[in-house]
Amino acid sequence: MQREVPETLYYDCPDCDDETIHDVLKGRMGKASLECTLKCTECGRTFATTIPLPKIIKMQVVISDGPVSERTVTEIEEDDIIAVEDEFFLEDGRRLRVCSIELPGDKRVKKSKASKVKMLWCQQFDNLTIKVTINNDRVSYSRRIPALPDDEFVIGNRLELEDMDCFIHAIKTREKLIQHGQAEARDIIRIYGKYGQKSYPVLDFEDDVEDF
Ligand SMILES: [Zn+2]
Repeated sequence: MQREVPETLYYDCPDCDDETIHDVLKGRMGKASLECTLKCTECGRTFATTIPLPKIIKMQVVISDGPVSERTVTEIEEDDIIAVEDEFFLEDGRRLRVCSIELPGDKRVKKSKASKVKMLWCQQFDNLTIKVTINNDRVSYSRRIPALPDDEFVIGNRLELEDMDCFIHAIKTREKLIQHGQAEARDIIRIYGKYGQKSYPVLDFEDDVEDF
């Protein structure tokens, strides 16, 4: 497992006298320790320190895909901070997103240190299906389109569906309804579009070039 300098970590702050979240301002990964400069996010104290590297633990993972669920195990550093909606890759290359974090005693939390977690409840997160509502005067249609998490959808753009096109006029994300700009598929709950007649398929210019 390749070890990278983390962006944040839990550490005993000398001023707060508590284990708080620290930003790692500078860091160099050694074989058994991390030399770094930390800044406490509670009190702002900045200091240099050497931290023994955390152990790598086995994390129990449940992947649910509709009615089917699968159990597996992944490796993670014991003091990694895991939060709901975090994305990570399994060793087999599948991309997962954390839906729920279970601690012992059936407790569910939004964020936790890895070593405290009993089970991570995840969803596979490679091929998403996005809901689209298309308005045509008083009629509205519901469609679904496939997307990858990184795909961007831009307000005003034409979206080609199988049986019709639409112009995106609003996007509901997890946070808010946006009416200008763009959103990534991973954040989108629903796209709202205005009906547009199906355009004729346009020949791809790149394909033409290859013929010459
Ligand atoms: Zn502090």
